[in-house]
Amino acid sequence: MRKVTIFGSTGSIGENTVDLIARAPADYDVVALTGGRNVARLAQQAISLKADLAVTAYDDCYEDLKAALSGTGVEVASGTAAIAEAADRRADLFMSAIVGAAGLVPGVRALKHGTTLALANKESLVTAGPHLMGEAARNGATILPVDSEHSAVFQALVGEDISAVERVIITASGGAFRDWPLEDLASATIEQASSHPNWDMGQRITIDSASMFNKAMELIETKEFFGFSPSQIETIVHPESLIHALVGFNDGALMAHIGPHDMRHAIGYALNWPNRSHLPVERLDLAKISSLNFIAADEARYPALRIAKDVMDTGGLSGAAFNAAKEAALDAFIAGEVGFLDMASLVEDVLSRLHGEFGLGCDTVTLDKVLETDHVARQYTRELVQQTAAR
Ligand code: NDP
Repeated sequence: MRKVTIFGSTGSIGENTVDLIARAPADYDVVALTGGRNVARLAQQAISLKADLAVTAYDDCYEDLKAALSGTGVEVASGTAAIAEAADRRADLFMSAIVGAAGLVPGVRALKHGTTLALANKESLVTAGPHLMGEAARNGATILPVDSEHSAVFQALVGEDISAVERVIITASGGAFRDWPLEDLASATIEQASSHPNWDMGQRITIDSASMFNKAMELIETKEFFGFSPSQIETIVHPESLIHALVGFNDGALMAHIGPHDMRHAIGYALNWPNRSHLPVERLDLAKISSLNFIAADEARYPALRIAKDVMDTGGLSGAAFNAAKEAALDAFIAGEVGFLDMASLVEDVLSRLHGEFGLGCDTVTLDKVLETDHVARQYTRELVQQTAAR
């Protein structure tokens, strides 16, 4: 039996993880589940998976969670410190599926115990890649990618010499506005940005897909996780989203990973690694699919891709600033304070201000510096949002 903890169990990745674990109850012993405001669902999950502990991130949700779990024997806690403390309870695998920078600290804490971290929370690598990878190496811990593109690259590299890799191609669906006229993007609404052509995901990552900030994050993630140089990392629009990534080797071979739009594949791969087990995902009928399309990614339509290149070139704390500005800009878009295209302008402005003031490309990326940069970048973004809204 493997001991498992899920950070963010009530979200889209969390639910898919719960689904796989619930199908094989004899294989897993669930230590802790953590969530945010959806305490009713968190309690249901804790009962059905017989978890030892359920934690909500919010203290004002504690009483509701306690009431929902009263008499079940499941321990209850609340607050961000309690989520991080859940990482101290021994588990063989921690699923990191909190959305946003809030996922960083619990993941780092789990790594200190030399365990395995299945990483869906891409913000951890974007904000603190060198620190996260360093913590894993220092503590003999393992990080397994759960983002479908990175799981695809990881799988294509099994048995390969990484120094023989020439390039990595990360595919992008193009998001909700792939075929929209450029002049219409400024007036895109939250509802329009919240619908993905292929994947069913949380709202924030879906909007990030429409703006390509999600892909920008994934390019940075690729650099930080695998150690490829920015010039080796490419992106291409692939409307069918069936090929998740390709790895090009120095003999010209391209290894593509193809699979259905179902995150349970990448999650299941991480849960079962280094083995493969039967997974309840659709088997693709290639004759039915019949054709796959590829379109060059247009940086005029997707400025986030250009920004990602700058962040990768600068390194250091620029990923922390980029992610925080992106999250704050997304909050402002969801709140109706700024338009869709304003998000990229805000992020670019915050990055150049921070770069001018502090020089983001430092060599040592500590957790404290990451959290400080995150704080300042959010504050600057808020200031700019207020100026934008006042115009
Ligand atoms: P969701 O928004 O669906 O779920 C997020 C989870 O985090 C929920 O359990 C939520 O709780 C919890 N949460 C929210 N805010 C906080 C907080 N401040 N502190 C602690 N917990 C919090 O996100 P997704 O599942 O879509 O994404 C999770 C991560 O995985 C993201 O980093 C995303 O980029 C990445 N990812 C997602 C993919 C997908 O298919 N969805 C694909 C690849 C990567 P509650 O809902 O109870 O409030």
